[in-house]
Amino acid sequence: MQKLTNIKLRRVQCVPRTLEPGILYVSEEFGAALHLCACGCGVKVSTPIGPTDWSFEESSAGPTLFPSVGNWQQPCQSHYVIRDGRVLWMDAWTPEQILSGRLAKERRDEAYFAARAGQRGEALHKLWNWIKNLLR
Ligand SMILES: [Zn+2]
Repeated sequence: MQKLTNIKLRRVQCVPRTLEPGILYVSEEFGAALHLCACGCGVKVSTPIGPTDWSFEESSAGPTLFPSVGNWQQPCQSHYVIRDGRVLWMDAWTPEQILSGRLAKERRDEAYFAARAGQRGEALHKLWNWIKNLLR
């Protein structure tokens, strides 16, 4: 298997049926990116893009995905970062690191949704004040 060192961006409207290696397919409408594992094992890797998932950026050099891609559910256990169109290989994580990565993601989710709920609460509060003013 040939480990890739470069990956190109291809923007798509919908997910293609067959993927080519070395291409990061990004659909911003659907908030998702898809590529074949950069180790060459042929596994499809899907990375949701959003405030609590992966962030995606494009530069003239190529796509950047953050944080790293860790294929812990796959036999290859590949771990790499896609930055400016390059695949930077990292060490496979230990089970402890995988667990702490998962917990960090859960904390990000919680913080994000708590902030969203807070905004909603504030909007309701404003509405309530407005109604009170009308009744005054
Ligand atoms: Zn792989």
